[in-house]
Order: sequence, then C-alpha cells, then structure tokens
Amino acid sequence: MPSTAQTGAAAGPDIGQASRETRERVATACAVLFRLGLTDYLGHPSMRVPGTEYVAIKPRHSEAIRAMGSIQPDEVAVIDLDGKLVAGTHHPPGERFIHTGIYRARPDVSAVVHTHQSLATIFGVVQKEILPILHVEAPLVARGIPTYPSPELIEDAERGAAVAAALGDYDLCHLQGHGIVTVAKTVEEATIAAIHLERLARANYMAAQIGGTPRVIPTDEIERLHAPMVGYKVRWAYYTSLVEDRTLPANW
Ligand SMILES: [Zn+2]
Repeated sequence: MPSTAQTGAAAGPDIGQASRETRERVATACAVLFRLGLTDYLGHPSMRVPGTEYVAIKPRHSEAIRAMGSIQPDEVAVIDLDGKLVAGTHHPPGERFIHTGIYRARPDVSAVVHTHQSLATIFGVVQKEILPILHVEAPLVARGIPTYPSPELIEDAERGAAVAAALGDYDLCHLQGHGIVTVAKTVEEATIAAIHLERLARANYMAAQIGGTPRVIPTDEIERLHAPMVGYKVRWAYYTSLVEDRTLPANW
C-alpha cells in the first residue's frame, strides 16, 4: 500500500472515465446508506470498474475520512482483486477482502455492500429468520439468508474466500456478530438490498412485538408480486433525492 495515502497525491495509473463514474456511484451509495442510518463511519460499498479488473471501494475511515455521508468521489479508493490500492489517495478498508473474495468467486456480481446495520445484524446474532412478510422486500429473503459464523474481521484473502463460500449463490449473507453483506449487478441494487433487508428485519421485529403468527408470503405469490413492480432505478431516484435535499425527512 502506498505511503502517499492522505497526502493528496494521485497514486497508480489513471484508469479513466469508467473509474470516475464508478467512484461517483460508490460515493452516492455511501451517502444514501448514511442518510438512512444504516452506517456511521464503518461499512463499505464497492463496485467493479467496468472493463477492468479493478474495484472502486469506500476508503478506510481515518481522521480525514469520517462519516460515510461525506465521502467525495475522488476520495473513493480503487483496488485490484488482491486488495492492493491502484488509484486514489486514501487507504482501502481493512475488510476489503470481503469484496475481493466475493468478486473472485462470483463473476455474476459487480457490486458488494457491507454494513453493520443493527436490526438485520441482530437477527443473525440470535439466529432468527428474517421472514418474507412485506411484498416489495420479500424476494430478497425468499430463499433464506446464509450465515458466516464468526465475528472476526475479514482482513485477509483466506477469510474473504470463506465469506464468499458462505454466501454461495445467494445475494446476501449474515456475518454473525458483525454485520451483513449484500451483492448485486450494480452498487445501487446492492444498496437497495441492504435497505430492504433492514426494512424486513424491522417488520419482523415489530410483528414479533405485536404477537400472533405473521403471514409469510409463499414463494409462488412472491414471484407474482415481483413481476409488476417498479425497477430499481425508480427506487434509487427516491433515495438519492434524500441525499440531494437534506431538508427532506428520511422516510423509509
Ligand atoms: Zn465490518
């Protein structure tokens, strides 16, 4: 890792417009996650830089890199699949191996979000299933959620590969006693998955408080519900509006 981190000097090759656009999208995902209270200064979204072997990822928190809500695109780190910094002036997060491990194992995945969002994480801690009980969010958990059964930091390639193995072909995973991971083709979809997961965890929690037996939406109904719903870009326009106009209430 270059010792130029935080000096303002550019490190590594210029990987062009694709990198700039991807860094902007990762910075926006950081801002959305923060605005909704799913992150503070920990956690990190990432996305593959199209046409390259590189990944744009939120930089490691430091005295310079603080709240997730104020990450600028040019502060976003670009790393290779070994986790080495190839562009940017700030260190990548120690847990970048969550991301590189998944990208190595899942060619179909182009974005990864890791958070410590509280309710979904606690469901993983108590090993209680987050049931598909809300129509918009149900598809996300229709197959259940796999668990990586350790609270240890994922700070090397071996643990990153173990997280990817726990994830398998699912689109989300508990990191038990730690947080969650969501994956998708875009950083916007992976971020929305984290939001939907927390909404579902909240609904499951509230249903348990009220008592009674929640109606779990059956798989065939989930498939029928999913078809006519709006695409992720419509939902993302709402979430980015909360970042663009901070006077709006962050309803979700
Ligand atoms: Zn973490």
